[in-house]
Amino acid sequence: MNALPTVEDLAYCEEEKLLKLWEGLGYYSRARNLQKAAKQIVHEFDGVFPQTKEELLKLAGVGSYTAGAISSIAYGLPVAAVDGNVFRVASRLEENATPISDVKYRRYLEETLSAVYPTDKKDCSDFTQSLFELGALVCKPRNPDCALCPLNTMCRAYKNGTQTRFPVLPQKQAKREEKVLVFLIETPQGFCIRRREEGVLKGMNEFPSAVILDGETPENILNEWGMYEFTEVKRKNYVHIFTHIRWNITCVWVRAEYAPFDAYSLDEIEESISLPTAFKHCLGTINERI
Ligand code: SF4
Repeated sequence: MNALPTVEDLAYCEEEKLLKLWEGLGYYSRARNLQKAAKQIVHEFDGVFPQTKEELLKLAGVGSYTAGAISSIAYGLPVAAVDGNVFRVASRLEENATPISDVKYRRYLEETLSAVYPTDKKDCSDFTQSLFELGALVCKPRNPDCALCPLNTMCRAYKNGTQTRFPVLPQKQAKREEKVLVFLIETPQGFCIRRREEGVLKGMNEFPSAVILDGETPENILNEWGMYEFTEVKRKNYVHIFTHIRWNITCVWVRAEYAPFDAYSLDEIEESISLPTAFKHCLGTINERI
């Protein structure tokens, strides 16, 4: 908010600056969507934030939940916002075994809940937030405080003792495991950084990295990049977990006279280069200088 106080500032911010501001928060598509939405607001909505659910849904990155939350909390409209907490409360009330990943179920809940919103505009924000809070603090996943719950007289799951059977969650997929080499290539000009061209974190800065198959070595990868003369300084292993992938990372610090990438000093990297946490962790290896 300090760096980009107006919607125009966000819309016209250089991508590198935006990603630096977002650094460490993960989900970089959210930063990009924020900027796309800011551009839409400037160009398609004359700089005025849209104020209906239908128009909010046109903004990049805004789905049904976000549009519902903004409509009711910011504008006092009777529009439900169904998050995980609300799914839990609602599915227990009705003993509804439809998986929460079912789009029709979400729509059904949005419509059903919106129909019972308060008629007074000033109460819609509280109503949305009270549903969130009820799910977070009372109707908890494992040990719901049903005796304290203001909805207990109408709750089928409480009546039948079936609370923990609801909501029905989609089956979790196992995370894919990948072995990744991340290279800290130190040249006389500094440490090498490039843009990722594919895979997870595509478009972000990285210390040059490669997903490796069994048998591949750091030397193979460096040779593929045209690097034949280098000295290894240190290796360090760590793990980084994304939503669907687990990276088992070996950070390899090498010194070389030549590398086919742009290089930056540590100060430049710290001050103006955005690096996702998966790579930033390597900086610890440099700074330790062990
Ligand atoms: S009575 Fe229990 S299960 Fe039902 S909504 Fe309240 S806290 Fe949840």
